[in-house]
Amino acid sequence: MKPYELTIAQAREQLASGGLTSRELTQSCLDRVAAVDGKIKAFLTVTSEQALEQADEADRLRTRGAVAPLCGIPLSVKDLICTKGITTTCGSRMLENFVPPYDATVIQRLKDQGVVILGKVAMDEFAMGSSSENCAFQVPENPWKSGFVSGGSSGGSAASVAALECPASLGSDTGGSIRQPASLCGVVGMKPTYGLVSRYGLVAFASSLDQIGPLTRVVSDCALLMDGICGYDPLDSTSVQRPPAPLMAALTEGVRGMRVGVPKEYFGAGLDPEVQAVVNRGIEALKDAGATIIDISLPYTDYCVAVYYLIATAEASSNLARYDGVGYGFRAPKADSLLEMYRETRSLGFGPEVKRRILIGTYALSAGYYDAYYKKASQVRTLILEDFKRAFGLCDILISPVVPTPAWKIGEMADDPLSVYLSDILTISANLAGIPGMSVPGGFSRQGLPIGIQLQGPHFREDVLIRAGYTLERGLNLPPQRPPMD
Ligand code: GLN
Repeated sequence: MKPYELTIAQAREQLASGGLTSRELTQSCLDRVAAVDGKIKAFLTVTSEQALEQADEADRLRTRGAVAPLCGIPLSVKDLICTKGITTTCGSRMLENFVPPYDATVIQRLKDQGVVILGKVAMDEFAMGSSSENCAFQVPENPWKSGFVSGGSSGGSAASVAALECPASLGSDTGGSIRQPASLCGVVGMKPTYGLVSRYGLVAFASSLDQIGPLTRVVSDCALLMDGICGYDPLDSTSVQRPPAPLMAALTEGVRGMRVGVPKEYFGAGLDPEVQAVVNRGIEALKDAGATIIDISLPYTDYCVAVYYLIATAEASSNLARYDGVGYGFRAPKADSLLEMYRETRSLGFGPEVKRRILIGTYALSAGYYDAYYKKASQVRTLILEDFKRAFGLCDILISPVVPTPAWKIGEMADDPLSVYLSDILTISANLAGIPGMSVPGGFSRQGLPIGIQLQGPHFREDVLIRAGYTLERGLNLPPQRPPMD
C-alpha cells in the first residue's frame, strides 16, 4: 500500500513502529494531490512547505517519546475554518484575500497534537449549498464519477478524502454539509452535538446550527478525530462543559440489545429505490448484529425544510452584515459615497445564492414579518426537537437515508434552487434539534455512485453512533475504497 492510501489507524501503526515517517506520509499525500487534484479540484490552497515543516516537527516529537494519536497525520481543512497565516476564503470573492491572524480552536488543538495541515479545500460560498457549485473559484468533482457533484457544502473535504488525497478532513455542518457530501462521495462524516466542538474561528453561517466535524474513510478514524477536536472552549459561548468521553473506547462495543428506530417519514415519496435498498441492507446488518428494529414516527419532518430555510437565512443575513468593505475582505474599487461603497461591495463580493439567502433572511426578520416567519419557525423548531425527544424515549438511535438520491451531474440542478433545498430534508432536522448525526458508506448505485446511511442519536451520544457505525461497516463489508479515477 502506498502511504497516501493508508487510513489514520494504519498510518498511526506504521508511524509508531518506525516503518514510516510523517514526512514520507505527508510527501506521499502532496504527490497524490499534485497527481489528481487537477481533475478533482478539491484544494483551493496547498500548503506544501508548511505541511512538510509540520511533518518534520511531528517526526522530531516522536523521537522524543510518547505522542498524541494524531501526531504526524495530514488533514485537509474546509476553507471556512480560520488558519493563521493561510488564506481562508469561505469559497467567496468577498474573502478571496483574507488571511486570518489566528487559528480556530480546532486547528490550534490539532496543531498542539502534531497534526499536519495539507491545505484548504473548496466549498459552497459561505457554506450555502448542497453541491459545492456555489464556490466562487472551482467546483470539486465526485471522485467516483467524472462530471458529478461531490455534494456540499463540504464538497472539497469529502472529495479530498474519497480521492485518497488525505486520510481525513475537517468540514462544517449547518444543515447536512458534512453528512451529505460524505454520503455522495462514499466516506464517513459526523456532525457532532451542538456545543461539543468549538466554533471559535469557524466563519459563521447560521450560528445556532453550525458545527465542525470530521470526514474520514473509516469509522474508527472518525472516532479518533472527534476525540482530537472535542472539548470545552471558553472562547465559544455555546461550548458545553462536559467531562471527556473518548469515542475510541466505544468503537467495538457492538449493538446487541440496541433499539434502532426507523423513522417512517424519512422513507417517503422522492426516495430513490436504490437508496432505499442500501438503507434496508443497513437495517438488516444491524439486526443481524443483535439490534432490535422499531418503527418510529417524526411527524414534524414535513416542516423541517421551511423552518431551516427561515432560521438559517435569518441568522445568515445578520452574520453576513459584517462584510461591508470596511473591516476586512473585498471592497468595491469605485464608489462616490459610503452607501454606494456598501452596495457595490456586497453586489460584487457575494454570489447569487448568498444574495438570495440574505434577501430571504432579511425579509423573515423585518418588522411586520418577524412574528409570521422567524418567530413561527423558532416555535416549530421546538416541536421538531420534541419529536426527537419522544423518539429517543422509544429507541437508542435512528437509521435512515442521508440524501434522497445519489450524486447528480454538475449543472443539472443549477436552475432549481428549491429542489436542491428539498433534498436537504433528511439532514437538517438534526441541526435544528442540535443532535448528533453521522453518514456511513452503505453501498453503490448501479451507476457506481456511493450511497450513505444516516445514523442519528440523542444529544451527546456520539458513542452510540460510533458503535452502530462501526457495526455497519463490519456487517456491510464493502470493498476497500478505490475510486475509479486512477
Ligand atoms: N445544503 C444546506 C444549505 O444550503 C446545508 C448547508 C450546510 O450545512 N452548511 O443551507
